[in-house]
Amino acid sequence: MKLTIVGCSGSYPGPDSPASCYLLQADDAEGRTWNLLLDLGNGALGALHRYIDPLQVDAILLSHLHADHCIDITSYYVLRKYHPSGQQPVIPVYGPRGTPRRLARAYDLPRKPGMEEEFDFLRHRGVVEIGPFTIEPREVEHPVPAFALRVTADGASVVYSGDTGPTDALVEIAKDADLFLCEASFREQDDNPPNLHLTGKEAGEAAEAAGVRRLVLTHVPPWHDEQEILAEAVPAFSGPTELARPGATYFV
Ligand SMILES: [Zn+2]
Ligand SMILES: [Zn+2]
Repeated sequence: MKLTIVGCSGSYPGPDSPASCYLLQADDAEGRTWNLLLDLGNGALGALHRYIDPLQVDAILLSHLHADHCIDITSYYVLRKYHPSGQQPVIPVYGPRGTPRRLARAYDLPRKPGMEEEFDFLRHRGVVEIGPFTIEPREVEHPVPAFALRVTADGASVVYSGDTGPTDALVEIAKDADLFLCEASFREQDDNPPNLHLTGKEAGEAAEAAGVRRLVLTHVPPWHDEQEILAEAVPAFSGPTELARPGATYFV
């Protein structure tokens, strides 16, 4: 399975990266490559063009409905609906309850049909299989319904935290992952609100408790020095730890 960081800026797009978006690619038994997107935050659709033909996305999974994780679906709707080669086939979009209503409002569409003629909206309920991928959602700790996502293909696993405060649910879903893409939005030195995000240290602690093989820190907001966040995580986790970078690829 190949992971490409399309966007990793936390909470809003920064000068060097769009907001959250991660591309996962794997081949099925017939050799067809499947393209899965985890989140499609502000600015990510533009950057996605660098890595694949954006019409070749097979499914989108949204961790939650904050704009920095979902809002470029409004632009992706335009791309698929009005593309000169014709309206594109319907693809699944998995998300929390209320996803179709939220996206219809964001584009100022009537609630019915909203975007339901372009996307097949499905709720995170349990394990699903999409091509060669198996995806397990797990609700985590955030002010709105939010999910971590565990994606497995060919025996390898990538776990994406989405946005979350510290919670056992995150450690459980990340258990023994080959690569843990974990948010780290806060610094230990600040007076942080509870149940919202992780500090760099807390991300490292979650990785250590889950026994993952590799930690990639993501969702650092541009208002922080990312090196400070990394420096918090490194002593807390005994495995390799790095910052996500737009365009970085990982073979898992
Ligand atoms: Zn966020
Ligand atoms: Zn959020």
